[in-house]
Amino acid sequence: MDKKITHKEPVNVLVVGVGGQGVIMVSKVLATICQEHGYQVKQSEVHGMAKRGGGVFSHVRFGEQVYSPTIPKGSVDVLLALEWAEALRWVNHIRPGEGTFISDTQHIVPPFACRNRKRGAEAGYARETSDQIISRVNKGFALDATTMARELGNERAANTVLLGLLSTTLEFSEDVWCDAISRFVPPKTVDVNLQAFEQGRAWAAMDHGTPEPVVHNDGPTPVVVGREEHEMSDFVQLDINPAWCKSCDICVKMCPERCLKLDDQLKAVLTDPDRCTGCRICEWLCPDLAITVHRTPEAARAAAQG
Ligand code: SF4
Ligand code: SF4
Repeated sequence: MDKKITHKEPVNVLVVGVGGQGVIMVSKVLATICQEHGYQVKQSEVHGMAKRGGGVFSHVRFGEQVYSPTIPKGSVDVLLALEWAEALRWVNHIRPGEGTFISDTQHIVPPFACRNRKRGAEAGYARETSDQIISRVNKGFALDATTMARELGNERAANTVLLGLLSTTLEFSEDVWCDAISRFVPPKTVDVNLQAFEQGRAWAAMDHGTPEPVVHNDGPTPVVVGREEHEMSDFVQLDINPAWCKSCDICVKMCPERCLKLDDQLKAVLTDPDRCTGCRICEWLCPDLAITVHRTPEAARAAAQG
């Protein structure tokens, strides 16, 4: 990053993603820091569809005087996207020739993008590459924050990796960010989130190319989780974390094969593994990230042994 954003005029940060990714946490951390530095802050957010896998966005505006809580189109100074298609949805809101684009390359393909469940079916997901998008903006950064967070042991900290990158565009000190993050994340995850934050800052300081999202078109639901390639396989392994399941019933209602149910503890369980196609709809829609679908050789081995 070559130059920090100045604050003579209101600074406009737009945070976007889908339900469950932590968009609101990111915007609250930023808004709190700005407020504690004496800026007038206005924040507005839309997350009504979050529990259906819908888009979530939050406007954060701060400066000496801020009148409106919403950012006019074409006035976004920093777009921070936690999901690739959401980044593309909002890229035209960036201030032409000046704004900064920051996005995770993670793809979360919404269920309505899956036109049918046959192998080879095409999903209606964005095809633009990170190089194409970055060439359209003044400054652009596309990083595989989800994989970075997963390698630290908590995929949910991807938003904090992105916060680390965002922090390098603003004037606030590293200590201030760390302090705010520690207050907003669950106490048990403070350490991993601070590590994720440092990784985001370290990534910003590196001289690197932008990672390319990978899209698979040979299955019922082309999907990429970070940069990890999921090969098509007849074997699927579904992990449901009962500690994270909040019994909302969404996965049960939305599974096209009707092979999930809530057990007597009101936790989601897979009732008929043979019918599960590994379509990942349950994984994408779970607002609490309680479900993980594996379609890897490891899953195949586990299934064969299991
Ligand atoms: S696994 Fe997720 S989507 Fe399914 S019931 Fe639990 S919280 Fe809801
Ligand atoms: S991955 Fe399996 S359990 Fe989940 S929605 Fe698809 S078919 Fe149902």
